[in-house]
Amino acid sequence: MNAMTSIIPSSTAFHHDSNYYNNLLTTSSSSLPHLKQIHARIIRSHSSSSSSSLVVKLFLSACALPSSPFHYLLSIFTQLENPEPRLSNKLLRHLSRTTDPENTLFVYAKMRDQDFVFDSFSIPPLLKASTRVKALTEGKEIHGFCFKMEFGSDPFVQTGLVGMYAACGHIDDARKLFDKMSQRDIVAWNIMIHGYCANGRYNNVLPLMEEMKRSNVFPDSKVFSTVLSACAHAGNLEFGKAFHQFMNENKVVVDYNMHCALINMYAACASMDIASSLFKNLSPKNVVVATAMITGYSNAGKIEAARLIFDQMPEKDLVCWSAMISGYAEGSQAQEALYLFDQMLSLGLKPDQVTMLSVISACASLGALDHAIKIHTFIDKNGFSGDLRVNNALIDMYAKCGELERAIGVFGRMHRRNVITWSSMIGAYAVYGDALNALNLFREMKTQNIEPNDVTFVGLLYACSHSGLVEEGRKIFESMINDYNIMPRREHYGCMVDLYGRANLLREALEVIEGMPMAPNVVIWGSLMAACRIYKEVELGEYAAKQVLELDPYHDGAHILLSNIYAKEKRWENVGEMRKLMQNKGVLKQRGSSRIELDGEIYEFLTADKSHTHTNEIYAKLDEVVSELEVAGYTPNMGSVLVDLDEEDKTKALLWHSEKLALCYALLREKRGSCIRIIKNLRVCEDCHNFFKLASKVYETEIVVRDRTRFHLYKDGACSCKDYW
Ligand code: ZN
Ligand code: ZN
Repeated sequence: MNAMTSIIPSSTAFHHDSNYYNNLLTTSSSSLPHLKQIHARIIRSHSSSSSSSLVVKLFLSACALPSSPFHYLLSIFTQLENPEPRLSNKLLRHLSRTTDPENTLFVYAKMRDQDFVFDSFSIPPLLKASTRVKALTEGKEIHGFCFKMEFGSDPFVQTGLVGMYAACGHIDDARKLFDKMSQRDIVAWNIMIHGYCANGRYNNVLPLMEEMKRSNVFPDSKVFSTVLSACAHAGNLEFGKAFHQFMNENKVVVDYNMHCALINMYAACASMDIASSLFKNLSPKNVVVATAMITGYSNAGKIEAARLIFDQMPEKDLVCWSAMISGYAEGSQAQEALYLFDQMLSLGLKPDQVTMLSVISACASLGALDHAIKIHTFIDKNGFSGDLRVNNALIDMYAKCGELERAIGVFGRMHRRNVITWSSMIGAYAVYGDALNALNLFREMKTQNIEPNDVTFVGLLYACSHSGLVEEGRKIFESMINDYNIMPRREHYGCMVDLYGRANLLREALEVIEGMPMAPNVVIWGSLMAACRIYKEVELGEYAAKQVLELDPYHDGAHILLSNIYAKEKRWENVGEMRKLMQNKGVLKQRGSSRIELDGEIYEFLTADKSHTHTNEIYAKLDEVVSELEVAGYTPNMGSVLVDLDEEDKTKALLWHSEKLALCYALLREKRGSCIRIIKNLRVCEDCHNFFKLASKVYETEIVVRDRTRFHLYKDGACSCKDYW
């Protein structure tokens, strides 16, 4: 005996009359198994004369159950003889509310085929289903049907049509119908306003609300919250402010929820002064709004203000912690982000995917491998290792930490890969100057039918330019446009300028710039300028540098590169002029800084830094390293020095570059043979580049240096960039 049979008294069953079933259907509390059982008995009893009214009852009971499966409902419905519209409408209404509203439209099409009779009540559920699945074609067909059947003046039908067109993105058609409506209740206004917001047509919302007021319908709190959250979502401050003013002018009573919505809106638009004055008056404070404030301050670059709010909140949820961690991670305070993450874990909070993405990005920007490995282990242990976005971020993280092998490892273990995965891996090879593998991966990507995007091509072009593959790069650029229909962005043109510039094809580089459909930016002129410096093209170099200074008069790099060009040509007079110009403008060279991670600690060195506790040992080590390298053929490259110093001072200015100090500290601390990783904030100079190549040979160690734009992997006296950087 199972549970089902206990519902119905199990007498001899087959010979009950219709009263018996009638009673069952009205008295028992309905459940799906119960209905199915009655259904089976009705069929078996063969009492055809009385069954039709029973089936109707059964059908209505089934429609009242939200859990009734589509096919079951349909099977009862088909047993009804000539069902009246009341019944078919019941079915349509039920289906339009389920998780598969498209079934409504399917049934409607069948009913039309079989010439069912419809009335005006049939239409709203059909439109509701079309709205939910954004079925414009079906929606239009229903519209035409309404017109034919003259249901068009029914306000419910009209409202449904407005909603359908708005949901399908045909907002102007929605408006035309809306304007023709004879009666417009608050629901209709809500739908129209929401439609404008959802379609990003903010400028239409305020006039519509004025019109709403004139027709004596005043916006309710739903309208206000719809509009405020839409402004927040779109970051549309201009309209948000205008809307706030509308609220003030109309003396709208701002309740607690609306107050929160206003703060959210201003914070999302990074208008933090207004947000913070509103936040001060909010009582009690709540964590959702506080989180919006934290994100708002972080986006506005005011991380301390964000932290102040974070610290003020007595109760913090995961979203709040994540927002603060992400604020640090994106505000290049990666160490603080990692510190906060540890704190969060120690409080027993479990991070989610969003938190992990911020933490990974913090490790990436820090370039600290020990931290990165720790986080990766944490990810594996806590069930994030199957997550596509997390894995994509891990590839990027290892690439930025100078661990190509581990990036390849993550890529290889992934079960699912998307275009971001492939692009990240191509980008990882690219920054290593490993164009061969970048191109191989691109070929493999194509065989797996993954459509490349613009980011993929940035990686490919970057790889070619840094490996001197001019022909290959040119082909890829053309293929991007012709085969993939991707219009080049500034970054792509930048890569091409770099590609030609590095290969000493300076005229071609200039032609790329001159042929760009958009104005070249500082980076592009800067790249041409750098190439001119390397190939001693003084005239074009000067021209490029002047273009840079025109776009950014305080561009320190342009001043320095211009002085470099003059210094290489020994035009000391011009160098002096440049220096004066820089002093007058207050342009200071960004001081070189290198970071190194040893035993999980991060050490930072500035140029000529003497603040380290082991300063004496470090400088002594430097002298020792220089003499050992000199035996191997090192001579300081004076062309890398900026200013007209005398020979001795120049040597010092060169030897005390931050990455050399970091390297010497690592050599003091590390055992021979282990890999040394250094992160430099500026481009590595020619002298350091040569110095590091020789050091990798003399000290039999791998050295990875990440400078502002790329990686250098020094090994056995050579660099992975093949001296193109
Ligand atoms: Zn240097
Ligand atoms: Zn290099």
